[in-house]
Amino acid sequence: MNSNSHADSSGSPRIKGWCPGAWRPMTTGDGLLVRVRPPLGELSREQTLALCEAAETFGSGLIELTSRANIQLRGMTEATWAPLMEFLVEQQLVSDNAKIERQPQIMLAPAWQTGDDTHTIAQQLQARGVELAEMPGKVGIAIDAGEAPVLSDSAADFRVERSIEGRLLVRAEGYALGTAVADAEAAVTLLIRLTHWFMQSGGEISRRMARHRAPLPVWASADMPPAPPGSKLAIGDHGAGRVYGLAFGRVDAATLRALVTPRAVSHVRITPWRRLWVNGATAPVTAGVINDESDSRLLMDACPGAPYCAQASVATQPLAQRLTPHVEQRVHISACAKGCARQQPAPVCLTGRNGRFDVIIDGCADSTPQVAGLNESDVLDYLESLGALHL
Ligand code: SF4
Repeated sequence: MNSNSHADSSGSPRIKGWCPGAWRPMTTGDGLLVRVRPPLGELSREQTLALCEAAETFGSGLIELTSRANIQLRGMTEATWAPLMEFLVEQQLVSDNAKIERQPQIMLAPAWQTGDDTHTIAQQLQARGVELAEMPGKVGIAIDAGEAPVLSDSAADFRVERSIEGRLLVRAEGYALGTAVADAEAAVTLLIRLTHWFMQSGGEISRRMARHRAPLPVWASADMPPAPPGSKLAIGDHGAGRVYGLAFGRVDAATLRALVTPRAVSHVRITPWRRLWVNGATAPVTAGVINDESDSRLLMDACPGAPYCAQASVATQPLAQRLTPHVEQRVHISACAKGCARQQPAPVCLTGRNGRFDVIIDGCADSTPQVAGLNESDVLDYLESLGALHL
């Protein structure tokens, strides 16, 4: 079992270089955090109900969605972790083989359909998982082979996308262009080859493709652009179900259970956008979740903050609630410079340091602040004086 350390006195994050999992829980401010990777980004109704039971029985009942479409259960103890794992394996929410969890994270465009390229490639990649190189813990692969890519803003190191002409592409993060491939099998083969090239060309040091400086090999020449990005799933009716938003990516087990209790619900797709697509759901409005695309909480990215994360010196949720009625554009609240809730720049970013907030305009959590050391109660006044919350 692993534990992380508290932030140092400057409030700078400790970069651990590994991701928590189920077999590798992380010690946080509210106990052990267990991260579950839903296979193919989907949970059956029964698995979702089991997850709710697990969260309540072994943890605090709080469930989080991550920006990589994973699920986190919080508040476990050393005593409850072992029975939790037994339960999760029994429910096929976690593999009994801890090594599988160390394979790169595979994220699917959430609207995949059985037998389409996204589904086929993900299945083939899973089946050939042992052929992937052993890579640093945060490396991920996005399978995003619908008509237009929808995961471009979500963290990944290698992507499968589609060109404007409809060809499948494999694209390395940091490159605007990708390599066209003939079919799903060729995409999987190229992905596997690229993971080995990454490690042989210094990936252990760079750790992420976006920071990797080695030129791409000749057999993966990047010469074809992906189609322009598509839209993420909008809140409301979608296909045979409904998409719900989760404020700041959090939901309590009782609310999630209520969402999937109707017998008509078949499964839930997990998205990297803090939205759940509940297939079979018909209730237009459900308490405890976001039912409206215009809800300004959807504009806020906030990490758990104190007391949930041991690296946090500030609470993020109260400030997020306070700012919500005033927000018209994206705001990122990060309790330390690591910026877990959002990797891209935001028009307004508030970063916690030594118990106060730094204000960054058009930047990331670790960018240079415009002003430093504001109390939570002063942040709104300062942002209003700049007009920074409005479009
Ligand atoms: S950004 Fe937030 S959740 Fe991530 S390490 Fe820092 S305090 Fe913790």
